[in-house]
Amino acid sequence: MIDEILERALAGGTLTDDDLTALLETHDRGALAALYAAAYQMKLRHVGNQVHLRGLIEISNLCTKNCFYCGIRRDNSHVKRFAMSKAEILAAARLAEEFRYGSVVLQGGERNDPGMVDFIEDVLHEIKEIDGGALGVTLSLGEQTLETYRRWYAAGAHRYLLRIEASNPELYAKLHPSDHSYSVRLEALRALREAGYQVGTGVMSGLPYQTTADLVHDLRFFQELDVDMIGMGPYLVHHETPLGKRFPECGSDRAAQLEIGLKMIAVTRLLLKDVNIASTTALQALAPDGRERGLLAGANVIMPNIGDPVYRKGYLLYENKPGSDENAAAIRAGLERAVASIGETIAYTDWGDSPHFAARRHGVETRVDD
Ligand code: SAM
Ligand code: SF4
Repeated sequence: MIDEILERALAGGTLTDDDLTALLETHDRGALAALYAAAYQMKLRHVGNQVHLRGLIEISNLCTKNCFYCGIRRDNSHVKRFAMSKAEILAAARLAEEFRYGSVVLQGGERNDPGMVDFIEDVLHEIKEIDGGALGVTLSLGEQTLETYRRWYAAGAHRYLLRIEASNPELYAKLHPSDHSYSVRLEALRALREAGYQVGTGVMSGLPYQTTADLVHDLRFFQELDVDMIGMGPYLVHHETPLGKRFPECGSDRAAQLEIGLKMIAVTRLLLKDVNIASTTALQALAPDGRERGLLAGANVIMPNIGDPVYRKGYLLYENKPGSDENAAAIRAGLERAVASIGETIAYTDWGDSPHFAARRHGVETRVDD
């Protein structure tokens, strides 16, 4: 049955919700290998075997929000808060340029105060000064107004990652306090599209309360929103969070969390074909070769940390986050080995824009194997 579904997907056929459920629920080793191989074939066909890099700069762990699962949520008083200075962010961006990463991601806790909005705008202008605007810039700074998104776009950012976290509003409500709004988040995703960004979203898999039907809903959500990029990964527990305290064991079966994370990548690749999909750090937290396995299951983007390790300990979204004490050069060396070990190459100095974004604008499907 799994083989028939995969053959149909590769032949360009439609996948039903029952098909998606069967793929997500299989634990059979042979079926899983076939799923990852089919997703890899789809990846080669539509985006090729080059890995695109984004140097990840975790600019600040100050956050006005209180998501129940996140280690840097506002009410976690055990976290030492930090905010990188402009000079520190620019030094990290220059390092990304020196390493020929091609682009950077500025990620941080959510803040909407005017000082923060101005600060990011200013930083973006200066990043664009580096080597004549050589670096592409992705932002991941939470929900903002359309006006803010427009200002940051005008200042040089062109991609934005905003995970919906859980596309089923009922599940979303269980994972967030009542003043966090699913519809505001959805509106923010629409505003990003309107402002002209390549838009990325994603979810966590293996969450408490989450069913296979929720994950199928997530996949349909990605399709309906017609997103350009996906950044998703398994949920990992942080015991100083409400969710971690309530479900201390959820997420402790590392093999199961890795499996569902890889299955979501593979099925997303089969469905969305030419989008960029990140192989996230959370996969690496579950297995030393987790990121490579993400690439082999259909992902084509990696976001190596390029910031100063001094701040890394303050940005623990979940426990045992890898690379917390490695410097950027050590991370780069490990990454080169990892990518080479699976026979892929790194697309250095490339912005690595989503082929889907270009295809959507020109009304054609992208293929690289024609
Ligand atoms: N504050 C911004 C936001 O929430 O969109 C961006 C930074 S936030 C730390 C980036 C992502 O971390 C979130 O979208 C969430 O999915 C992920 N995250 C937070 N806590 C996590 C956990 N315990 N396990 C796995 N991922 C987690
Ligand atoms: Fe803040 Fe993002 Fe963490 Fe939510 S997930 S608490 S918005 S940093």
